Amino acid sequence: MTITERGTHEQLRTTPRYHTVGIGAGPSNLSLAALYKNVTSDRLALFDSRPGTGWHTPLLYPGVRMQTGWMKDLVSLVDPRHELTFLNYLVTSGRLYALINSQFDSLPRIEYERYLTWATERLGVVNFGSQVDSISITDDGFEISVDGVPAAVSEHLVLGLGTRAVRPAYLGGLPAERAFIADDLGQRLATMDRSAPTAVVGGGQTGLESVLRLLGAGFTDLRWIGRNQWFRSIDDSPMANELYRPSHIEYLQGLNRDTRRQMIDDSRYSGDAITPGGLRALYQANYDGFLSLGQFPVTLLPGRDVRTSDLLSDGNIRLCCSTTALPEEHVVRQLIVAAGREHVAAPFDDDLRERIETDDDGQILVESDYSVRWKGMNGHKIFTFNASRYSHGLTNAGLTQLPVRAAIVLNSMFEREIYPISDDVCAVHW
Ligand SMILES: Cc1cc2nc3c(=O)[nH]c(=O)nc-3n(C[C@H](O)[C@H](O)[C@H](O)COP(=O)(O)OP(=O)(O)OC[C@H]3O[C@@H](n4cnc5c(N)ncnc54)[C@H](O)[C@@H]3O)c2cc1C
Repeated sequence: MTITERGTHEQLRTTPRYHTVGIGAGPSNLSLAALYKNVTSDRLALFDSRPGTGWHTPLLYPGVRMQTGWMKDLVSLVDPRHELTFLNYLVTSGRLYALINSQFDSLPRIEYERYLTWATERLGVVNFGSQVDSISITDDGFEISVDGVPAAVSEHLVLGLGTRAVRPAYLGGLPAERAFIADDLGQRLATMDRSAPTAVVGGGQTGLESVLRLLGAGFTDLRWIGRNQWFRSIDDSPMANELYRPSHIEYLQGLNRDTRRQMIDDSRYSGDAITPGGLRALYQANYDGFLSLGQFPVTLLPGRDVRTSDLLSDGNIRLCCSTTALPEEHVVRQLIVAAGREHVAAPFDDDLRERIETDDDGQILVESDYSVRWKGMNGHKIFTFNASRYSHGLTNAGLTQLPVRAAIVLNSMFEREIYPISDDVCAVHW
């Protein structure tokens, strides 16, 4: 690509230059920015398409809880004296005692979002409303464009692009106001029919939270459909939590790819499942509903995989499911889908995309330091979070190892051990 195609000489001359640019300002890159600020005076900027602060905001409402404990904040695991600890947020916002005495088993997600907002404001490095639409490599480093205009040139790049909700093909062709993904439930709820049969498809945490939200809003005929044999809760046992430690991630790195993949698939339900408290809340609300209505407002339908749907002549929606026995049909008026999330791809331009090395499945090859393998690196590094499930395991996506991941990236970026990562006091020998 020529300079005239990318922008004028003047534009390039005046484009702000940074040592590091992060795309996405979710917890992954906020953790990176927080640790970065304490180790260097070099410039860093984050770009995020969101109009302002937030954290999975469409799925946030009173009552939803975290799946991770409060010590798993942006910084504590590697730098507990950092000013952006969750504890410092509680103290400086005056809510420490109120929160302690509320005796939450798991924190409200809204509180975690408030904490992220507090940290974001103190960091002061996020450019909101900035959808990065192109990343290219120039002699000076990476050129990042927002709305087709160069917005930054940077030595290094850190991708924290997160995930987006999957929209299964069977949603297409159905009326959007009655059949939609869970992210849209908040805005559609007011106009929905509370007595009409309503299906929630998806046996994970978001599916459960959608059912709870509908129950709380007075819905009386809910069908909760999930693919697995039963609605599984997270294994939060001490042993399962050993999988979320640096020592286990290091162990995974030493395995061959196939073995590692198998082990990561086997350990899936230590993280990709429902919080036990959430399932209990559903069972209790359903029993309360049974006492007042004389029937359960929620019917649980595990072991059903929705394959297709069609709109019947009376306006109802027919869902066709495969099961372990005979196929089944379920006819409902309204449909909410929580079918999981997919990784957001980086907007590399064609030249850079061709240089990125991928595995046989077309997945980007991510090294143990979260760097991406690409041809012609020339000292410029690309790191990526949330995109290396089969090299780093389940911690690749969650909040459990945020600062550890960020510390590993910074150690690699600055080629010295700024943050020692030690996890030797461990009774398990993998
Ligand atoms: C509802 C929900 C609850 C969760 N709760 C927990 C929990 O309790 N514990 C846990 O461990 N994990 C949880 N997770 C999983 C995971 O930890 C979170 O998804 C976490 O937010 C991931 O952080 P991230 O920074 O990698 O990505 P995200 O938080 O998804 O942030 C990515 C950001 O990148 C931006 N972006 C993407 N593409 C571009 C672009 N081209 N230009 C500019 N900006 C872009 C997006 O706007 C977004 O803000 C939860 C996930 C969901 C969906």
